[in-house]
Amino acid sequence: MNVKRIIVLGATGSIGISSFDTVRNLGNSYSIVGASCHSSIDGLLTLAEEFHIPHLAVSGRKVSRPEITWSGDDAVRRLLMETEADIVINGIAGSAGLMPSVWALQSGKDLALANKETIVMAGPLIQALAEKEGRLILPVDSEHSAIFHLLRRQNLSELRGIVITASGGAFRSTPLDDFQHITLRDALRHPTWDMGAKITIDSATMANKGLEIIEAHYLFHLPASQISVLIHPQSCIHSMVQSVDGSFYAQISSPDMRIPIQNAITYPEVTHSEFGGLDFTSANFTFQDPDYKRYPVLPLAFQAVENGGSYPLVYNTANEAAVEAFRQEKIRFIDIAPVVEATLQSDWSDPSSSFEEAVRTHQLAWEQARLNIDTILEHQR
Ligand code: MG
Repeated sequence: MNVKRIIVLGATGSIGISSFDTVRNLGNSYSIVGASCHSSIDGLLTLAEEFHIPHLAVSGRKVSRPEITWSGDDAVRRLLMETEADIVINGIAGSAGLMPSVWALQSGKDLALANKETIVMAGPLIQALAEKEGRLILPVDSEHSAIFHLLRRQNLSELRGIVITASGGAFRSTPLDDFQHITLRDALRHPTWDMGAKITIDSATMANKGLEIIEAHYLFHLPASQISVLIHPQSCIHSMVQSVDGSFYAQISSPDMRIPIQNAITYPEVTHSEFGGLDFTSANFTFQDPDYKRYPVLPLAFQAVENGGSYPLVYNTANEAAVEAFRQEKIRFIDIAPVVEATLQSDWSDPSSSFEEAVRTHQLAWEQARLNIDTILEHQR
């Protein structure tokens, strides 16, 4: 029997935990041969014991424990370069996930990608690398997984567009007048998905959907005009494609990240799972268009796609910097979008010609975002 060997990056985060649960359910044709975490060493060791994982990496600091194979700055790169495997699940949060995606492909492995920043920061570069290495990029983001699998059944020349669904986040029905009082604690509550802090805040602002617009633009080679966003608070329709004849095709299941993870791991096969069942008689699906006054960061993503160059990358960077400042309670929730907007005002028209250049532009944009945060704070004084 051919066993598929898997490496899980970000093993102790939300995607990591779901990945282990998926493999637990898939049975013994799949084996986890390597795993990394940033700093939750005890969690990593518990997983390593259950799954008999031979290679472990801790990226956040140096550790001298016999079970940890690599630690510190170079740990994830060495885990990827020195471990034989078929597929890497990249569940690292934020822009820190970019280079691990590069190393995964460079070391000859397929990439199951939950880290949307990889595509947002360097979409064309990472796709060219995958092609050069003859490896696959399989989206794990639930919306992109849905579209990816729908497009396998749909002729691209017959595609009118795609509809990315969104939960609408924690403040979907909060009166706009109350937005100035939103606290960090308020923003960390998500109605349907249980995820990390950054992505939960991004769901509340819909910056997460903004990043997903950019991700879809690169992954499926679609212009902004063929991508639309629809709020669907029950998060059961994971996305839709529309055919030129006007009909919509949707991927529908109860919200469960194990389905997109499983479909990436087993690709090109689709295999049995117990996840995702849905009782339609009690499902009360509703929809609404996103209100740009409520989600001012969303139209900036469409604009970034239209502007091209490094604007999509900078959209992500500025949002990361703003969310960090919000999590440190330096700026208010309603200051996040103005930081992103101000940072996108600079000239970012040059695209990156290498991953190193993408990382440098990210650093430059981060400094610019910090300056814009300072300006906003000065005005509030
Ligand atoms: Mg998503």
